[in-house]
Amino acid sequence: RAKDLGRNQYHFFTEEINQQLIDRLELEGRLRRVLDNEELTLHYQPIYSLERNFITGVEALVRWRQPDGSLWGPYRFIPLAEEIGMIHAIDNWVLRSALRTMAPWLSGSNDAMRLALNISSQQLQMPGFHQYVAEQLTANGVTPSQLELEITERMLVDNSDSTQENIQRLCEMGVRLSIDDFGTGYSSLGYLQNYPFHTLKIDRSFVCNIGINTHTARLIDTIITMGHGLGMEIVAEGIESDLERQFLKAHGCDQGQGYLFSHPLPLEQLRPLLEKAVRELPSFSENQPDG
Ligand code: C2E
Ligand code: MG
Ligand code: MG
Ligand code: MG
Repeated sequence: RAKDLGRNQYHFFTEEINQQLIDRLELEGRLRRVLDNEELTLHYQPIYSLERNFITGVEALVRWRQPDGSLWGPYRFIPLAEEIGMIHAIDNWVLRSALRTMAPWLSGSNDAMRLALNISSQQLQMPGFHQYVAEQLTANGVTPSQLELEITERMLVDNSDSTQENIQRLCEMGVRLSIDDFGTGYSSLGYLQNYPFHTLKIDRSFVCNIGINTHTARLIDTIITMGHGLGMEIVAEGIESDLERQFLKAHGCDQGQGYLFSHPLPLEQLRPLLEKAVRELPSFSENQPDG
């Protein structure tokens, strides 16, 4: 009967909702202990000069090791971390760990190589964040201009005093700022007037339409021209095919990253690539003693 059915559905839904709540609380609890339990790990994706085909830097990308040994990507926990206020601790951990791990290569590259990190809007809003960055650069002996903080356009909608102050101080220090996922946010271009970005990263959603959509091709060309006009370096994200690489190179895009070159890698797998890159850097070999 309809009435019984209704009751059964009611029971069914409350049980499902209860289970969802339990799962969510359990997940939240595990996320709060993620640093104590040392469950975060970093993968690094090399970034290549399209002109000369060598590594100009790496982007650190965070992963969460699960009890079953699998790794969760950021989309599965960064939003929750932002919701429960764990993002500050996580982003600081990423900053600290990536700088410590990469410091030898950054200095070994004669300052030619860069480390890129993703910073959440909440972190950029945190009063004193710039001081933490300064401390970590000093502690690891890294030149500020070798650090690039990636910020998505979305977060620039927030114009709080502390965000402004952090951006200004970071720039004064010489830290580079990069607009990540360019073209996917809903903010106006107005922020380009107010913030001194050094790098613009063309989002993968444009790159994957190269060769498919002629409008996309023109759009990318326009973005590159605009970015260069504003004195920015252009990095294309998510390059998967040689066609995409060639198109971007032909249109003057400076750098690229993507599965065509390399997936994000754990340190052990990145190390041989970096060793080779450092040996091949022009600025590096020029400064080597003869022989
Ligand atoms: P993002 O900064 O735009 O990073 C690029 C994403 O594209 C990475 O995903 C990378 O694995 C993926 N990718 C790179 N090359 C290719 C390709 O050729 N094809 C395809 N299909 N994908 C490619 P991932 O690692 O899942 O990171 C997702 C996002 O999470 C990042 O996007 C970044 O916004 C955020 N994120 C990563 N690490 C951190 C972190 O430490 N802190 C914060 N706040 N956010 C982070
Ligand atoms: Mg990024
Ligand atoms: Mg991106
Ligand atoms: Mg992103």
